[in-house]
Amino acid sequence: MTQTFEIAVFDGDGIGPEITAPTVKILERLAGASPDYALSFTAAPAGASLYAETGESLPDRSMEIARRADAILLSAMGLPDVRYPDGTEISPQIDLRKALTLFAGVRPVSVRAGQRSPLNLPEGQSIDFVLIRESTEGLFFSQGNGEVTKDEARETLLITRDISEKLFRFAFSLAASRKATGRGPGKVTCVDKANVFRAFAFFREIFDAEASQNPDLIADHAYVDAVALWMVQKPWAFDVLVTENMFGDILSDLGAGLMGGLGLAPSADIGLDHAVFQPCHGSAPDIAGQGLANPLAMILSAAMMLDWLGTKHLNTALSADAARIRDAVDRVVSDGQSLTRDLGGTAGTEEAARAVADILFAA
Ligand code: NAD
Repeated sequence: MTQTFEIAVFDGDGIGPEITAPTVKILERLAGASPDYALSFTAAPAGASLYAETGESLPDRSMEIARRADAILLSAMGLPDVRYPDGTEISPQIDLRKALTLFAGVRPVSVRAGQRSPLNLPEGQSIDFVLIRESTEGLFFSQGNGEVTKDEARETLLITRDISEKLFRFAFSLAASRKATGRGPGKVTCVDKANVFRAFAFFREIFDAEASQNPDLIADHAYVDAVALWMVQKPWAFDVLVTENMFGDILSDLGAGLMGGLGLAPSADIGLDHAVFQPCHGSAPDIAGQGLANPLAMILSAAMMLDWLGTKHLNTALSADAARIRDAVDRVVSDGQSLTRDLGGTAGTEEAARAVADILFAA
């Protein structure tokens, strides 16, 4: 029986619409060829350009489309020159995480065959780990409510037991499913700063309680500064890392750096009922409108979406198509003929996306 899934599409700002269009086209063609699932797309306007035009950054109607959808596909939002009166940027992607309680920011870091990495990996070593960034609280909790006087500025970090328990449960469950498919030893590392801050000792205590419920998995701890070092020195030693929002924000860009840049870094923000899939990068205003943007991170994010829907709805056709997308991207990267400039090539957005589609839909 064909299962139909509603997808809310936020094509966002800057390069957003340029990378969304070919991604949705690929998804439409995959679904169109499958007897097992169908996808229905609804555009959800939001972002900095919309705010500049209308004074609204995330209209109720778009929020409603997001709430009703089975999954949310989002490109990137924000423009450095468009700001709220308090000086902060328009960031509906962060508002969505909070409104839909998307506590688990999933950032896979892998270096594929033939992929450029600034690291010289020892012979036979590869990188394949997942960073989970808590995405609704931590230091981002006070966003928009920081106190600033002439002489002082304060922002408050929040860590709750409820969200931390959900976060760690998610992390151990991900490590278990990776282990079951031969990816990693089933190890979760809690990344914190428990040597200095009581809030992180609290975070760690909740982690340890969840670890004790998972005796078949390995649990360990590391301080965030050491993890930054080890991500460069021995990234192959990690399996699943779980951390606070701000630490995760910074480490996920380091992870993208290991992969040779943001153009190959997908992500997901996952809660109990909803999930947003989007590349790690921003709206890249410096190259917007020129057809130069790399669409691969967006296409890989779409693959994560199919995987998540497949697992949630027990539909193996979706997971199989997710694997086909990842394989096609791997082949485009290792072949190297259709890479965009950020990956050292000369292709434009269309050519790079077409190369993926050509592999997927070869007769
Ligand atoms: P950015 O990720 O947009 O760009 C950083 C650099 O990477 C730029 O040189 C850009 O050209 C390049 N780049 C990014 N994505 C690329 C792609 N797909 N292909 C080729 N090159 C790419 O980060 P920024 O410049 O710090 O931010 C620009 C805007 O995006 C800001 O308004 C910021 O707030 C917003 N932003 C949004 C998100 C999001 O929606 N999740 C994330 C980060 C930044």
